[in-house]
Amino acid sequence: MKNILLSLLIFSGLFVSGCQVVQPPASQKLTVLAIEPFLADITANVAGDRVEVQSLIPSGVDPHSFELTPQDVAKLEKADVLVLNGGGLEQFLEPVLSQKTATQLVIVASKGLTSRPVNSSDALAENGDPHYWLNPVNVKQYVENIRAGLTFIDPNGAVAYAENARKYNQKLDELDSWIAQEVRQVPPERRLLVTNHESFGYYADQYGFTVVGAVLSSVSSGSSPSAREMSALIEQIKQAGAPAIFLEMDANPELADQIAAESNAKVITNLYTHSLSPADGPAATYLDMMRYNTTLIVEALR
Ligand SMILES: [Zn+2]
Repeated sequence: MKNILLSLLIFSGLFVSGCQVVQPPASQKLTVLAIEPFLADITANVAGDRVEVQSLIPSGVDPHSFELTPQDVAKLEKADVLVLNGGGLEQFLEPVLSQKTATQLVIVASKGLTSRPVNSSDALAENGDPHYWLNPVNVKQYVENIRAGLTFIDPNGAVAYAENARKYNQKLDELDSWIAQEVRQVPPERRLLVTNHESFGYYADQYGFTVVGAVLSSVSSGSSPSAREMSALIEQIKQAGAPAIFLEMDANPELADQIAAESNAKVITNLYTHSLSPADGPAATYLDMMRYNTTLIVEALR
């Protein structure tokens, strides 16, 4: 009790003397809610210890098929700042965002990036391809949008946010060089990707892969292939000589196994693309997730 009284006295003493550097108590920290765990991790790197960052979607859950519970809606309404990927990834948020509170800041992390061309027959792709984050160079734009948003809502943190962003961008540059270096182990004619859905386009563009096809020919995982699409993909895999089909963590392997059996490709499971692993897993941060996927891809193709 004595200690609490003492700190109160010190606090009011500073306040009375007009000192401007008194920090608000920890409970008054800004609350920032990022929608996906990888986005929460990127945001936390920019935010440092000035704000508390949480993820709305728990790790291991696919944002393409996510549905809001009433508790989620309450969390969304309570947060001072929301950080979205954007680009059509979070369609479940539309009803909530249309009635967001006036004081709440919404940061769209991918704002300013241009979508790569998508298959025009993909009905789920009205906003283009939302998987910008699978190229770390795109994530530098995320960092800039997050830095600008946090600085707007918390101008006293401007210097800290700029410094945190600079450091994290350096790590993104290192990651980019590391991936490019690793991919050199794969002969160019074997840099072929077949995935569960069309999520690896930006990664492929950046590191010289060709996307041969996807089990679900969509930029969302919420679709299913027809028998004709399945046999077309088997043909494409055979013709291209693609060695492997890469599946994201919670993808159903049945279709891929069937395609693999008829095309001689092997199935590599458990890539982390839309979510991080638990803290003690192999992909607990965005940077680790990208390294982990790259290692799996290079080992399967080289
Ligand atoms: Zn996706």
